[in-house]
Amino acid sequence: MRDLTAFILILIMNFTFAQKKYVLVIHGGAGSVTKENMTPEKENAYKEKLTEALKAGYTELQNGKTSAEAVQSAIVILEDSPLFNAGKGAVFTNEGKNELDASIMSGKDKSAGAVAGVHTIKNPIKAAIAVMQNSEHVMLLGKGAEKFAKLQGLEIVNPKYFWTENAWESLQKVKQRELEKQKKISEHEKNYPDYFEIDHKFGTVGCVALDQNGNIAAGTSTGGMTNKKWNRIGDAPIIGAGTYADSEVGISCTGWGEFFIRATAARTIAAKMEYQNKDIKTAAQETLDEIEKMGGNGGLIALDKNGNIAMPFNTQGMFRGTVSENGEIEVEMYK
Ligand code: ASP
Repeated sequence: MRDLTAFILILIMNFTFAQKKYVLVIHGGAGSVTKENMTPEKENAYKEKLTEALKAGYTELQNGKTSAEAVQSAIVILEDSPLFNAGKGAVFTNEGKNELDASIMSGKDKSAGAVAGVHTIKNPIKAAIAVMQNSEHVMLLGKGAEKFAKLQGLEIVNPKYFWTENAWESLQKVKQRELEKQKKISEHEKNYPDYFEIDHKFGTVGCVALDQNGNIAAGTSTGGMTNKKWNRIGDAPIIGAGTYADSEVGISCTGWGEFFIRATAARTIAAKMEYQNKDIKTAAQETLDEIEKMGGNGGLIALDKNGNIAMPFNTQGMFRGTVSENGEIEVEMYK
């Protein structure tokens, strides 16, 4: 009898403490996401869009599709929404253009694809997937990438399609700040070719999914950083920096790209797990801490093959959401 009671107790404990298994995670950028900066309407709009993306990705997984297909479905919804800095809604360069970057990696065979600096591809994540699946390359740039996307039958749009008032206003504000700062700085600094003011509101989007066969894929899509110059490219299209996936874990990052590149952020998380046996939360947090020490900020999402997640950020907030194995959806944005 005692044995039976103990057995039942263990069963109950196991059930109570059973780790939730996640199958899909998304982010919609990190930055100054605070309750004070939000209206109830805006908060709802974000929640609805993130939920829609999570549902779209989850439906693919439920239908037995690959993790890459789930990542694509989720990211396309965020790219098509003007709320995020990816696809429509992308931020503007100093020259007033939208210059888009995206990448994807499939952990199963470590295949990967990316496009950078594109102006006419409606959904850059689709182009990244096409590069991964239908070319022998990993990264295509600018006009060449656009030509390839067209040949792949992807939707090409007039660059004006990406214009949104919000992103345009952000550029004007940042440029104004830049002007004011320039008045205060020395002649030397003024002429220093590296000087420019950037905005630290990151609205990049990303997704990591785990499919029914246990394969992980991770993808990221962005307009980069407001007021970027000289065809600057961030971490989002760089495999190992903004995006990475292997058979153990998938990662998508958002934040000040230069630091994520220098920290080889996404790959570092996977390496800490691979070589140091660290769990996903420790690996992700340590990597973000290293970025913070270097002076960078942002956040990331990570999902491992057992359905564990990490979503650290060192900004005021980060748009993020999860779906568990049984379809339970959670969306958050504040600390
Ligand atoms: N990481 C992106 C970049 O540096 C920006 C972002 O996350 O919003 O281009």
